[in-house]
Amino acid sequence: MINKCLKQNQYLIKFILLIVPLLYSCSTEIEKQLWYKGNLHTHSFWSDGDDFPEMIIKWYKDHDYQFIALSDHNTIADSDFWYKLTQKDIKNKVLNQYIETFGDDWVESKKESEDTYVKLKTFAEYKAKLEEENAFKIIRSEEVTSSFNKKPIHINVTNINQKIDPVKGTSVLDVMQKTLDLVNEQREKLGIPMFAHINHPNFGYGISTEELKKLNGERFFEVYNGHPAVNNGGNEIYNSTETMWDLINIHYYKQGKPLLYGIATDDSHNYHDYSPNHSNTGRGWVMVNAKNLEISTLIEAMENGSFYASSGVYLKKLSSTNKEIFIEVEPDENISYEIEFLGYQKGNDQISVLKKVNGTTAAYSFGKEDVFVRAKITATNFLENETQLEGSMQAWTQPILID
Ligand SMILES: [Zn+2]
Ligand SMILES: [Zn+2]
Repeated sequence: MINKCLKQNQYLIKFILLIVPLLYSCSTEIEKQLWYKGNLHTHSFWSDGDDFPEMIIKWYKDHDYQFIALSDHNTIADSDFWYKLTQKDIKNKVLNQYIETFGDDWVESKKESEDTYVKLKTFAEYKAKLEEENAFKIIRSEEVTSSFNKKPIHINVTNINQKIDPVKGTSVLDVMQKTLDLVNEQREKLGIPMFAHINHPNFGYGISTEELKKLNGERFFEVYNGHPAVNNGGNEIYNSTETMWDLINIHYYKQGKPLLYGIATDDSHNYHDYSPNHSNTGRGWVMVNAKNLEISTLIEAMENGSFYASSGVYLKKLSSTNKEIFIEVEPDENISYEIEFLGYQKGNDQISVLKKVNGTTAAYSFGKEDVFVRAKITATNFLENETQLEGSMQAWTQPILID
């Protein structure tokens, strides 16, 4: 009898030992957020990038990204284009590397007198070759590249279907608004989700805070762009992109417009020389919290603000309720983190630092005066490497409007 009881107990203990870790792993599995990493701003030989689309896409695929958009200037990569190799391309051995990676059968090249031409693969061709179901998505994009009085006005259109030509207008604002209207028209007409985002407003100090305040229908802009010439930090006269973001959102809130979301991108052009003076891969990206990797799902998640922008900091958890926001950093050993909660409060005309925490987790409970709150996470003691720009290891969560 005692033996039988002991045996039963042993079974019970074995059962508990088996089931408890299972239960635990289930609950942590449910809590685990699905994050998809992507870069929405990249250039190839289709415009002024210095490599073939497939080589660039392969870099992103090999570096644990789940989606990429090649956003060449004023093209959607759908025509016959024989690209003529330049002296710089020959020095970079681009054709040899291309053939080595994708094979003779894939690469089409021809010689005409002294020149070598390579036929660029179209969007449809490179997408079919490199996209992988549930693992890696390639999104069609165009950097609609216009200007007004020599001020650059660049607007990316993610998941564009038909090319949009640069527009002429009577002011920077007019050019931006007309471009946005064309994007929204195309979306309506085709029923395909797509969105515009304003690129690098401080490039050539082309786009001001005041102009962005007056826009209608803009949901995204680049709070961080990894190109060395874009002045993310502003100067004595011009606001940093982050200050712009907050001032625009205070204005949008007062006007009853939806809040503007911040994106980080590479805007990569240079794939052979890596230095702070080049525009390289791996500097800025978005992490999208979506239920799957379908392009329409990613866009829907971004439009709901379910993503953060990053220039080097990863989050393990980002959650919010109507009472608080909670942040947990995915820590890199030897790096310290500062988590700041920034918010707009009733009666103020600017953003305040609501709470600052040194560490890898932090929560902020919304106060009665808070209107919207966002978080910024900064790596404070990292060793800069050659591909990161100065002071650029950060993550920015999207502003949350408090009811
Ligand atoms: Zn640009
Ligand atoms: Zn660009």
